[in-house]
This record gives sequence, C-alpha cells and structure tokens, in this order.
Amino acid sequence: MDILVIGAGPAGLYFAWKMAARGFSVHVMERDAYEKIGHRLDSFHIDSEKFAEFEMPPPEADSKELITVFGTGVNKSPYGHHPKTVHYPFHVMRLSPFLHRLVDYCKEQGVTFSFETAFSEFIFETNEGKNDGKNIIGVVGVDKSGKSIKCHSKLVVDSTGMTSPIRTTLPLDYGIETFQISPEEQFYVILRYVNWLEPTEMPSKGNTGWTFYKTWVAPAPEGTDAIIGIGQPLSYEKGENVFVDFEETISLPKYEVIRIERGSTPYRRPPFSFVADNFLLLGDSACLTKPFSGEGITAGWTLAKIAIEHITPLLKANLPLDTSHLWGINARYNKDQGAKFAEMLAQIPAAANTTKKEMEYLFKHDVIFSALDFEGMNRNYELQIPFRKLLRIVSVLVWGLVTGRYSWKNFKGLIGSLGIAGKLRKHYEAYPDHPTNFPTWTRIASVLWDDVPKMQ
Ligand SMILES: Cc1cc2nc3c(=O)[nH]c(=O)nc-3n(C[C@H](O)[C@H](O)[C@H](O)COP(=O)(O)OP(=O)(O)OC[C@H]3O[C@@H](n4cnc5c(N)ncnc54)[C@H](O)[C@@H]3O)c2cc1C
Repeated sequence: MDILVIGAGPAGLYFAWKMAARGFSVHVMERDAYEKIGHRLDSFHIDSEKFAEFEMPPPEADSKELITVFGTGVNKSPYGHHPKTVHYPFHVMRLSPFLHRLVDYCKEQGVTFSFETAFSEFIFETNEGKNDGKNIIGVVGVDKSGKSIKCHSKLVVDSTGMTSPIRTTLPLDYGIETFQISPEEQFYVILRYVNWLEPTEMPSKGNTGWTFYKTWVAPAPEGTDAIIGIGQPLSYEKGENVFVDFEETISLPKYEVIRIERGSTPYRRPPFSFVADNFLLLGDSACLTKPFSGEGITAGWTLAKIAIEHITPLLKANLPLDTSHLWGINARYNKDQGAKFAEMLAQIPAAANTTKKEMEYLFKHDVIFSALDFEGMNRNYELQIPFRKLLRIVSVLVWGLVTGRYSWKNFKGLIGSLGIAGKLRKHYEAYPDHPTNFPTWTRIASVLWDDVPKMQ
C-alpha cells in the first residue's frame, strides 16, 4: 500500500481522498466506529471561500450537513459598541455528516477503511546506520475484538488529533518532537446551545462576536435558537470566569441552556518538523490551529494540500519517502502559513493583557480592530499595515498614552511582543530548504520562542 492514514478526522480524510484521487492506494485506520466519527462536536464554522481553495464541494443547500451560511459577521467592542461589520462569509455545518461525506468521497476513489481499529505500535524495518537501525514501514492496529492488524505502507500519516498517540510515541531520535500538549497549551471552547426565552431579532441570524471576551453568538442547528460560544486559553475555568464578566457587561436576551459542548484544541507552537522517514504529521496532531480562534480544519488542510502536491511526484517517480525527499513540505508550510501563525501566536500573550478600556479606545478609533483588519486576519492570517496605516496606529496609541486611555505598561508589552513576533516570522520565512541546516535553525527558533511571554 502507498499510504496509511491513521485518524478519520477532517485532516486525515481530506488527505486520503485527494491522494486516492491521484491514483495511489490509501488505507484509513480509525479508532471510532463509522457512525461515531465527528460526534465529539456538533457544529463548526468553515470560511466559505476555502471550499474553492481546497477543491472541496460545499454542502448541498438542503442537506442535513448545512446549518446556515452568513455573509457578514459583526464584531463589537468590550462594552458592546462600535460594531464592525466584516464581509467574510462563513458556512455553519454539522461535523458528523461532513465527515461522512468525506468518507464517501474517499470510497469513490478506492480508499479502504478499518473502523474501530486503534493504532497500537509501529512496525520498523532494520535500516542500519539510520535512526538506530529503525525505519517505520507500517503500524499495528488493534480492532474492537482485540485482534492485531498489521498494515505496511510507504508512508504513515498521523492525523489522530490533539492527543496524537502516534507522534508522542515516535522514537525520540526519529526527527519529530514527541511533546505532549499540556493543559496550559490548549484553547478551551465552551458552546452553549440555547433557546431565547422571549421573541428576539438578535443575534442568531448572523455571527456576533465580542473580541475582548472571545465570545460569540452564532446560528445553531435545528432544535435550538443559537449557540453562545466562548474560547479561552489556559482552562475551562478561565473561560467560565470570562463569561461571567461578559454577561455582567453585555446584556443578551434571556435564554435557557439546552445543552453544553466543551472541547479543546492545541494552542502552542507546532513541532519544528512535520516529516520524518516514511512519516507525515497532519492537522491537530501537528498543532495547526489558527492562533486567533483555535479553528483547525482549513488551517490543517493547508499543510495537507502542500503534502499532496509534494508527495504525488515522489510516489509517481518511485522515490523513497524519506526525510530529505519529504522536506519540501516543511519548507513550503513554514515559510508561509507557519511564519504567519508563529508571528500571531507570539503577539497574543501581550495582546491579551489589553484592558477593556484600552480595547474600547482602539475599537472607537478603528485601529487594529477595524472591519478590514478582521477581514484580513480571517482571509490572510495577518494584518495588512502599510506605512500610512502604521502612522495612524502609532498616533492613536500615542494619543491614548498622553490622555491616559492606554497604559505605558501595556504599550511597552505590545511593542516588545511585536519585536519578538517579527523576528520569529522572519526566522520561519527563512526555514531551511534542506535538513542539513535544520539543527542550527531549530536552535535559534527555540531561543526566540523562549522569549515569547507566557499566557496568564
Ligand atoms: C468545541 C470545539 C469547536 C471547534 N470549532 C471549530 C470550527 O468552528 N472550525 C474549525 O475549523 N475548527 C474548529 N475546531 C477545531 C477542529 O475541530 C479541529 O482543528 C479539527 O477537528 C482537527 O482535525 P484532525 O483531523 O486533525 O483531528 P480530529 O478531528 O481530532 O480527528 C482525529 C481522529 O483520529 C482518531 N484517533 C485518535 N486516536 C486514534 C488512534 N489511536 N487510532 C486510530 N484513530 C485514532 C479520532 O477518533 C478522530 O476521528 C473546534 C474544536 C473544538 C474542540
């Protein structure tokens, strides 16, 4: 077999489908039963324009997968003022039917599946002189009856999500970091599915967000009126505390909670390399969530798409899928999305110290939190700051300092974080094109990440 994908989530299924469509033999091993995949989460958002970018058909209008599409969203200041209307359409969808559609696409292209089969261990081939004489050539899975199933393949793909039982058990010298994602390195999401207790126009028709609290109200699946979501780094407890502050400041219509969903996503820098001999990391197991929202589906597909384009000619030419042949995947990803995400992740701890009043001031003056900034962040994962705009930001910040609306401490923190973040971005943009320069690059990257302040 050419490719063994472990984990039938959005990342693994997308990769399996597209590789099979290119004529390669692909098998997917998944711990859960077919009916259960995607059950950990009911609804999710996906940027509408990403369907075309990733050549993924959007859901049919009358399908059970689609909840709604909204063309605009509104972001409000900490005190609920200065609304910014963001013209960036989103699809709101149900995860399980979406994954089932991906399974159908896979099967149409000849992908085979073992559901209810969990990864158990790697199969190594002796390859003297390399990785202590070990080279991955497949894995052993265990099905629900306890039977071991051996799968050999040219490439093993770990798309098992955040807990990543595969990456974390790789041999230490295999070339990919094996860290566990600690509780402080996760982004915690709490979704309250609610019904309004009084007739209301607000706000379930579109998405309304309050950036300061990382809280939003969005359309919900049938049976409930809306979802009130909150996402916070560090812990669920922090999320609940911020939500109390939110409800004390912003008055929502009265509601009853029908059910609550909770989950977390990775919120830390990804491993420095996603590839090793016959091995590839994808999706949440590669920590590829968007730093400003914790969303990971299309962020993960970016790496998958690069990998598909890179591996196709290698397999066609019957070249080995060793680290040096796969390395271009690392370089392409890290020089672009990887560099942008690194920059953002480094800015967030300082940005999170911004007080309510400071953010209110920035919203009021349409600086950093303008509609165009929100749109740019969603679309390009960066703020476009030409010179004139930079001048305006600086003058608004300086005026804020002079008039006491912005504190020196947070101003200095923000400027300091911009410096570290800028250095990190440049360093990722200079990601080595060949593994020989990787140890030096990694050493410098580690020092830069050590300078990034921790979330509090
Ligand atoms: C509450 C919440 C809301 C979210 N909302 C959004 C959103 O609106 N938009 C968005 O883009 N992202 C959202 N995300 C993030 C998104 O869900 C993830 O980024 C995405 O699911 C990652 O896909 P994945 O395929 O990498 O991993 P997963 O979706 O985690 O899939 C991993 C698969 O691997 C399987 N697996 C695990 N261990 C084994 C094993 N040992 N053997 C075999 N199989 C195994 C699992 O059963 C699972 O099917 C949200 C996350 C949470 C928690």
